[in-house]
Amino acid sequence: MKTKTILIKNSIIFTGGSSKKLLKGYDILIEDSKIKKIFKSASKNIKADKIINAEDKLIMPGFINVHMHFYSSFARGLNKINSSKDFVEVLNNLWWRLDKKLDYDAIYYSSMAALIQAIKKGTTTLIDHHASPFSIRGSLFEIEKAVRRCGLRACLCYEVSDRDGEKKALEGIKENYEFIKYSNEKNDNFIKSLFGLHASFTVSNKTLEIASDIGNSLNSGFHVHCAEAVSDQIDCQKKHKMRVVERFEKFSILGEKSILAHCVHINEKEKEILRRTQTQIAVNSQSNANNAVGISDIIGFSKKEILYGLGTDAMTVNMMEEIRAALWLCHLKNSNPSVGFPEVTKTLENNAKIASKYFEKIGEIKEGNFADIIIVDYIPTTPLKEDNFMGHLIFGISQSNIDTTIVNGNILMEKGKLNFIDEKEVARKSQETAKKIWNRF
Ligand SMILES: [Zn+2]
Repeated sequence: MKTKTILIKNSIIFTGGSSKKLLKGYDILIEDSKIKKIFKSASKNIKADKIINAEDKLIMPGFINVHMHFYSSFARGLNKINSSKDFVEVLNNLWWRLDKKLDYDAIYYSSMAALIQAIKKGTTTLIDHHASPFSIRGSLFEIEKAVRRCGLRACLCYEVSDRDGEKKALEGIKENYEFIKYSNEKNDNFIKSLFGLHASFTVSNKTLEIASDIGNSLNSGFHVHCAEAVSDQIDCQKKHKMRVVERFEKFSILGEKSILAHCVHINEKEKEILRRTQTQIAVNSQSNANNAVGISDIIGFSKKEILYGLGTDAMTVNMMEEIRAALWLCHLKNSNPSVGFPEVTKTLENNAKIASKYFEKIGEIKEGNFADIIIVDYIPTTPLKEDNFMGHLIFGISQSNIDTTIVNGNILMEKGKLNFIDEKEVARKSQETAKKIWNRF
C-alpha cells in the first residue's frame, strides 16, 4: 500500500497550523508516514520512490472537520419525510426516524459514503458523532472498519440519549466505554475516541451522572450538542432550573478535551464557563442556517478566547464550503459585511489545535509531522502572498479541485482518482443498503 519515499516538487506550500507560512518553489520529501524534509526546489538532487510534480498546484495540510455524523449520508434524497416547522420536528421527522432504522451494513456503508467524499474534498481527519439506537453494540467498531479501509483519521463516539428509554441509554454508555477502552489501548494515530452524549434535553440526570463517572474515569473528553436550538435552553431551565452549560459543568462534562457542538444559544455567563474550563466549541454554520435555529457568535467566542473550531454537522465534508458559509453568516448575524474575517478563517488553525487534543503531529506541514497533505489545482490570477492567503482561500482556492490526497504518507487519491477503493462498487452496495433502510420508512 505504501510508497517508501515520495517527493512533491516545485510547489507553493501553505503550511497551515500556527505557522501559516507560504513557501514558493519548495519541495517536500515524505518518508514512510512522515514529512522528512521541506526544502527549496532543485537545491538538492533528491531521489525518491515516487515523484509528484506539483507545478501550478498548491500544497496544504489536509482539512479537519470537528463535528460530523457519517450516518447522515443515508438521508441524501430521502423524501419520505414530513416537513418540519422547528428543530425538534426535524429531529422527530428525519434524524430520529433514520437512525432507528440503521443496521450494521447501513452504519458501514453510510460511513464509507461520507469518508470517500472526504478523501475527494481533502478532509483527512474527522470527529464523528454516531447514533443507531437499534444497532448500538459494536456500531463504533463498524465505523472504525470503514475509516481504516479509507485510510483517514477519525475520532468516534456514540451519542447517549434517554429518548428511547433507559435501556438504550445504558447500551450507549457501554458502547462508549468499550470503544474508548479499546482505542486507548490500541493507541494508534488513525482512530481516537470521545464519550458521546446527544444533548441536555434528551439526557436525564441519572444518565449524565453515569456517563460522567465512566467518561472521566477513562480520562476521556465528551462530545455533545449544546444549545443548538433555543428549545434546549428552555427545556433545561424548566427541568433543571439552570442553563445548559451550567448543567454540563455541574456534571463534570466540560474540560479541554470536550467538544460542545453549536452553542448557538449560550449567554455571556456560559461563555465565561467555557473559557474558564477551556472547553471547545464546534461551530456548524450551514447546519444552523438549514435548521433555522440561529447563528453562533464566532466573534464573541474569539473575544472570550474560547477555542472554537468548524464542523459541518453532516451538511458536507467540504471544509472550504463550510468556511465560506460561516463567513457569510457571520456578516449576516452582525449586519456588517466587514466583520469576522480573521475570526472565521482562524477556524482552520483552531481545528488543528482541537484535533491535536486527540491525534499526534497533524494539521500543519512541517518536518516531523505525519504526511497528511492535499494538492489543490490552483493557478493564482492575482498576487498570492502570506498576508492575503485566506482571501485566496475563501474566494479562489475554495472553487478549485483537489488533485491529490495523502494521509500518513499513503496516496489515497491521485489526479482525482481513488487509489485503494473501487468507488463505484462501494456506491452500488451503499445504494442497495440505503434502499433497504428507506423501505422501512
Ligand atoms: Zn450534530
